[in-house]
Amino acid sequence: MDHYTDSYGLKTAIIEGDVIGGTCVNRGCVPSKALLAVSGRMRELQDEHHMKALGLQVSGAGYNRQAVADHASNLASKIRNNLTNSLKALGVDILTGFGSILGPQKVKYGLDNLITAKDIIIATGSVPFVPKGIEVDGKTVVTSDHALKLEFVPEWIAIVGSGYIGLEFSDVYTALGSEVTFIEALDQLMPGFDPEIGKLAQRVLINPRKIDYHTGVFATKITPAKDGKPVIIELTDAKTKEPKETLEVDAALIATGRAPFTKGLGLENINVETQRGFVPVDERMRVIDAKGNTVPHLYCIGDANGKLMLAHAASAQGISVVEQLTGKDHVLNHLSVPAACFTHPEISMVGLTEPQAKEKAKKEKFKISVAKTSFKANTKALAENEGEGLAKLIYRPDTGEILGVHILGMHAADVIHEASNAIALGTRVQDIKFAVHAHPTLSEVLDELFKSAHVNVDEHKPVAV
Ligand SMILES: Cc1cc2nc3c(=O)[nH]c(=O)nc-3n(C[C@H](O)[C@H](O)[C@H](O)COP(=O)(O)OP(=O)(O)OC[C@H]3O[C@@H](n4cnc5c(N)ncnc54)[C@H](O)[C@@H]3O)c2cc1C
Repeated sequence: MDHYTDSYGLKTAIIEGDVIGGTCVNRGCVPSKALLAVSGRMRELQDEHHMKALGLQVSGAGYNRQAVADHASNLASKIRNNLTNSLKALGVDILTGFGSILGPQKVKYGLDNLITAKDIIIATGSVPFVPKGIEVDGKTVVTSDHALKLEFVPEWIAIVGSGYIGLEFSDVYTALGSEVTFIEALDQLMPGFDPEIGKLAQRVLINPRKIDYHTGVFATKITPAKDGKPVIIELTDAKTKEPKETLEVDAALIATGRAPFTKGLGLENINVETQRGFVPVDERMRVIDAKGNTVPHLYCIGDANGKLMLAHAASAQGISVVEQLTGKDHVLNHLSVPAACFTHPEISMVGLTEPQAKEKAKKEKFKISVAKTSFKANTKALAENEGEGLAKLIYRPDTGEILGVHILGMHAADVIHEASNAIALGTRVQDIKFAVHAHPTLSEVLDELFKSAHVNVDEHKPVAV
């Protein structure tokens, strides 16, 4: 039995039941962004009008499915190897096997290996959530785990769920020639986005493409293709629960969200009860037991705690825990964590949506203002012939506090960081609007946005925070 102890230069072990890198590297961010890099180029090369506007002539853009699939799996292997090598170089022990908590500071892994540690961090992540009634065969009815392997490109695919994962796959499939049908339980597509951005996304990413949709319906039964029969999808009205139509398609991608992977973790041994499968934590990621007390030396980060199911949020929560383990208090401001959808063009956001900001303003009795700017006013975007896009700032006119920023446009996922850093550092509109941006760059979109906001405070007086 090894004993893992705390010290400066913390002695660290990772227990991994599958492959290093988890969802992000192997079945998430990394391979999906490789496919999206291909779809972005295909989309551009196929857009004769766009090419002509740049004075370019391209004929016959095509692709080799297996080579595209290889690009995604090779990238995942490369990143996984790099990650494994850096862990080893840092002196992290990689222990292989399924881990479960036996008691305070005690973990069993694999068949009968036992380790103790001063502190334990649960980071067991999540798996695709498949609603009941849907039969996944991994070939014609798939989750993102299968779809990322790009084993075939169906002529017609139904995507169940129009969150960011479904939306990214619609970008990939339509660029590779598929027709897409979205099935969404809520009344509008892309329910997670700021409504104005969602509306624009519909105009830019859905309407001009070979995409149709059914909203306000559940896919209550999906049967994989078999014996020459197509995939059959039974739709039910989300409100009346009455059966609606039945669709016959070549494939279905289930993108209805992710479920925490916390079964078999042994949480009962330390009196912790999951909530809908998620491990309850406080704002410092300390695990909370069934009596509402924090469990000493036990933390949970990432998808398993359900606070914000994004790779960089998991990583930021991990860093926050390490800060605490080394004696520095740290609380991550989740409202400063940006999120992005890597469609073409991209969507990104940080902080509150306009309806969320309005609700907060009503409760706390303050006013909000909204400033907007278009990518059509940005030289770099126009030089690229990519003027489609909007950036939106939600702020408090009385203090200059930035409440939320939402962007749809070229490289929105890179442009958002000035706003997320501003929120993280508490920088106000009246201060950041004097920051200088290189010309011509896409970052001038945010420069323009901050400059167009109207704050009613004396700009020369510091604001009490
Ligand atoms: C298609 C897709 C695209 C995505 N794109 C993005 C993106 O662009 N940007 C972004 O920020 N996020 C993206 N995500 C989300 C991102 O992948 C997750 O938020 C992130 O991986 C969560 O990290 P985690 O460490 O919490 O868990 P995971 O990455 O899920 O890792 C958990 C690990 O724990 C292991 N494990 C689980 N239980 C045990 C156990 N009991 N014992 C031992 N090992 C165990 C698992 O095998 C796994 O390796 C995407 C997800 C998907 C599915």
